[in-house]
Amino acid sequence: MLESLRRIVQEVNRALVLDDALRIIVTRVREAVGADVCSVYLTDTQNREHVLMATEGLRPEAVNRVRIPLNRGLVGWVAEKADLVSLSDASTHSRYLFVTETGEERFCGFLGVPIVQSRRVLGVLVLRQREPRCFADDEVTFVITLAAQLAGAIELGRMHQQDTLPSRYLAGRAASPGVACGTVVVVYPPANLEAVPDKPAQDIPAEITALREALAEVICEIEHIGGRFSQEDRALFDAWRLMLESDTLVDGAIQRIEAGNWAQGALRDTIAEHTDVFDQMEDPYLRERASDVRDLGRWILSRLQKHSAPVLDYPAQTVLVGDDISVMQLSEVPRQSLVGIVTTGGSVSSHIAILARGMGVPAAMGVSELAVSRLNGMEIIVDGYRGRVYIDPSSTIREEYARLAADEQEFAAGLDALRGLPSETTDGYGVPLYLNTGLVSEQRPAGSDEAAGVGLYRTELPFLVRDRFPSEETQQANYRCILQTFSPRTVTIRTLDIGGDKPLSYFPVEESNPFLGWRGIRIALDHPQIFMTQVRALLMAAAGLDNLQILLPMITTVDELDEALKLIQRSYEELIEEGHPVILPPVGVMIEVPAAVYQAAALARRVSFLSVGTNDLTQYLLAVDRNNPHVAALYDELHPAVLNALMLTVAGARQHGREVSVCGEMAGDPLGAVLLLGIGVHSLSMSAASLLRVKGVIRSFSRARARELLTDALQCENAAAVRRLVTDALEQLGLGGLVRPGR
Ligand code: PEP
Ligand code: MG
Repeated sequence: MLESLRRIVQEVNRALVLDDALRIIVTRVREAVGADVCSVYLTDTQNREHVLMATEGLRPEAVNRVRIPLNRGLVGWVAEKADLVSLSDASTHSRYLFVTETGEERFCGFLGVPIVQSRRVLGVLVLRQREPRCFADDEVTFVITLAAQLAGAIELGRMHQQDTLPSRYLAGRAASPGVACGTVVVVYPPANLEAVPDKPAQDIPAEITALREALAEVICEIEHIGGRFSQEDRALFDAWRLMLESDTLVDGAIQRIEAGNWAQGALRDTIAEHTDVFDQMEDPYLRERASDVRDLGRWILSRLQKHSAPVLDYPAQTVLVGDDISVMQLSEVPRQSLVGIVTTGGSVSSHIAILARGMGVPAAMGVSELAVSRLNGMEIIVDGYRGRVYIDPSSTIREEYARLAADEQEFAAGLDALRGLPSETTDGYGVPLYLNTGLVSEQRPAGSDEAAGVGLYRTELPFLVRDRFPSEETQQANYRCILQTFSPRTVTIRTLDIGGDKPLSYFPVEESNPFLGWRGIRIALDHPQIFMTQVRALLMAAAGLDNLQILLPMITTVDELDEALKLIQRSYEELIEEGHPVILPPVGVMIEVPAAVYQAAALARRVSFLSVGTNDLTQYLLAVDRNNPHVAALYDELHPAVLNALMLTVAGARQHGREVSVCGEMAGDPLGAVLLLGIGVHSLSMSAASLLRVKGVIRSFSRARARELLTDALQCENAAAVRRLVTDALEQLGLGGLVRPGR
């Protein structure tokens, strides 16, 4: 059964339109369970009815005609309970509804399973039998599992029936505030067949030539690489060569190009057709060949993509859309053309989201229902406040968002008036605002003039973009540049925080749980030479400027800190011995692991300052992977547990007279900033785009009012309540425009 399940899901996911998907479901499920009838009803909430959308076993004319009122019949009962109903003789049940359009006879055996997506009932999958029948446990679990796996595909198919759902939005997570209206440019990982979009072939003969050239290139490479193996081991290469020379593959692809699809799309469909044949086979060995065909397809695609080099033409209002977007892909778009970012994966605390906020580009992440491959060139609206996107929006929606965007501009112009004014509360308490930078290379980071200095310089970038560890000299030049730009203002530079979602290609680490694994200071202490090279580069870079502070990431134990401090001291002594005029800069610890919160006092005693990384602290406190869209809804830095952790941190630091800064994304969020002010943190560090917004908030509140709000927030039992509370407080001060579209 497991095997049929896998195949049905695969087939359904490949179906391009909803009707096809549903037809596949009813045919295959009826077959697998041996029932007399299998039907799918979809729920039409607007008309308050369940509509028969596909059936195998009932009269085909009944499709679309049978409409069961929402709370009637057994189908209604399954949907109401959002739970399965299994009856050996349904005909005697009080909820049994005899529907004449469907069948001429009464059915006894009944199994109804709800199709649920994100806690919403989309419809009901029904199996029926003429005779009384008690469906066996494994049949029931089969149908439940299938319904759970198909819900996504059904939802997707439904959304593509634009006429039934004219102005629905797709929901994701709000990743960067603002609204944008633009044209979709889809980016996809190279050589990923599934992600290749359909595109009309502009020049059919040219597409055919490109395909033939790619095939010839691959044949040549197969000959070449295959030649290195023994006769036995060459079997796969021989099989590939045969496939490439077979007419079915080549002709199939060419026919599809002639029918109008571009070469990459034609290849995708031809490969899918071939893998289907293998996928259907019962023999596991033969089934495995499907993955060989897929590999071959990717190989050809990679050659094809080289031929049709991604000379992406970015429209004036580009909204970059992808399952995942890499920093590289983002940096290829001319800044002036980029108006929005949408991903199906990722989450609001992923580095791509941090970048979006840094650039002030509205973004929605984790919009998992988006069918990326079909969107290229379509018009899209991104609501970065609510994490919503509208595809091909109706004119009403478009007008509404155009109005909001105009309001936004006006609001932003109001914020502009805050430039140069001090960041202090209405009762004269100063909260210096610093800049987070380092994620993209920039000569002079935006917002440099407005910031009190740099509160977090992430040093990973030069390590990520190279194919080896950068030398001490390279690093020194890099750090010198940022220190000079901001001198005499302080620049807090964080030592290398690789691992987690920032792996180095030349330092591979295989881990099943990278965020709980070898990252940050753990790698540094296990490889003191890497750490000391960086510290030496930092101290040398600061010579004569003396505006450097060093920040240590991912500290979990006091011992780690002691060891890191020893290595810093050793590097300093080495440099002094070598005759360099360096000084020992202030060192701080990042509080981003719950253990560090509880030892804040012990850590603070050893260093000059603490800086809270709320991105990781939230992830670890709530046990929610920052980058996993399935659990993204649980990630919220306004969770009362996070607020309490921050209180403890400030109290711990206070015991030793140390200051606490916050450099996670919470500091740049107007709602978070108010609460941090109440908690009593001394400074905030954020991306450039947040500086004026947060300054606006700080200048509107007294410290006493922020403390009052915090007291109320600490009474709340969940993040949503905290959010409501602080949003209301902002609205009352006329600052609603900071947290929602419009003024
Ligand atoms: C954090 O964890 O809050 C932080 C600032 O570091 P990063 O986002 O780089 O992990
Ligand atoms: Mg962190």
